[in-house]
Amino acid sequence: MSYIKGLKCRECHRVYKAEAIYVCEFCFGSLEVDYDYDKIKSVISREKIQKGPKSLWRYRELLPIEGEPTVGYHAGFTPLIRSENLARELGMKELYIKDDSVCHPTLSFKDRVVAVALTRAKELGFTTVACASTGNLAGSVSANAAWAGLNRFVFIPADLELGKVIGALAYAPNLVAVEGNYDEVNRLCAEIAAKYHWAFVNVNIRPYYAEGSKTYGYEIMEQLGWRTPKHVVVPVASGSLLTKIWKAFNEFKKLGLISSVDTKMYAAQALGCSPVVTAMKENSDIIRPVKPKTIAKSLAIGNPADGIYAIDTIKESGGSGESVTDDEIIEGIKLLARTEGIFTETAGGVTVASAKKLIENGVINKNESCVICITGNGLKTQEAVSDHIGKPHRIKPSLSSFEENIRHLNHIKADVWQTRH
Ligand SMILES: *Cc1c(COP(=O)(O)O)cnc(C)c1O
Repeated sequence: MSYIKGLKCRECHRVYKAEAIYVCEFCFGSLEVDYDYDKIKSVISREKIQKGPKSLWRYRELLPIEGEPTVGYHAGFTPLIRSENLARELGMKELYIKDDSVCHPTLSFKDRVVAVALTRAKELGFTTVACASTGNLAGSVSANAAWAGLNRFVFIPADLELGKVIGALAYAPNLVAVEGNYDEVNRLCAEIAAKYHWAFVNVNIRPYYAEGSKTYGYEIMEQLGWRTPKHVVVPVASGSLLTKIWKAFNEFKKLGLISSVDTKMYAAQALGCSPVVTAMKENSDIIRPVKPKTIAKSLAIGNPADGIYAIDTIKESGGSGESVTDDEIIEGIKLLARTEGIFTETAGGVTVASAKKLIENGVINKNESCVICITGNGLKTQEAVSDHIGKPHRIKPSLSSFEENIRHLNHIKADVWQTRH
């Protein structure tokens, strides 16, 4: 059963068949999937969703596939955590963490978009899939394509973190390390996509791929008890996730699954690559591309494909954006680990640190509900923090060595040294 009407240009609204295309032939606007919402409304309900699979496929009617899902059965359905400790530290009454760094096969939210993209790529008859990646997409495409038995080509900037490289190589893709930054990798991939019959998940089948991010938003609403939070802080690379969470909220409203959308969207970026936040702060509708220089490599897109749409979304919602330094990113990672027991990657550090600033500056009201989006796992970007988290205490295997080396440490509370009676 399909609910796709076709593709539609985001600028001139011209319609196209649901094929492997992504730009409007007339105005060069980007294409987006168009659905038959009346038909969806007649079949969808809260009860039906709740009875669905414990994966993103519980929202299958709102995803751009024609048949049944064939890839990514275990993506999505990640925890929404009510924060006590971080909330107390930031003075927040109602703070949540949507944690996509766990439960996913390759430990980032990219397993959502890849599940949808590869299912659609197979429907469109592709046998080779590919991507341009800032790191997490590389691992997810490699893993899911391996499982699905597809040929796979993965293009990354040559200077990625080892955890991202190994996290892709393990699944035996054709991994191509390009001597250049992500924007250069992406440009190359557009050329390759124009020549070979490959499904580039974030180039020629990007309209389908991007829809997978909506499920992050659907889950937030379902897990909050069928409502939207007042504030959502989202890490921004291409800007797709931010726009799709907003689309998800508005689709649920349109379908009557929630009563209203009363949410402000905030972009979180690294200061060393903040084209969207800079344009927001300068109140400009033009995104000036930048050359990224930050430890947050997964967000290092200097010329974001959906940057303009992210800005439109933020403005429409009444939100804003914030950017943070590399030191603040590291502090953000440590803060989340220390308070909530969640070890996130650099992108998560960006989001936590940006949220902290927005709260401390009074932009986000402490009495209102807020969701922080954690999208990737810290084990993949260990080099970002390895020099900033101390070292193990090295001792000899004896009680005396233990006591000599550890007892004098003055950050350990006195009650620790109570002896057994
Ligand atoms: C890709 C990525 C993002 C941002 O995604 P966009 O949709 O391109 O803005 C955020 N966090 C992590 C960890 C990512 O890998």
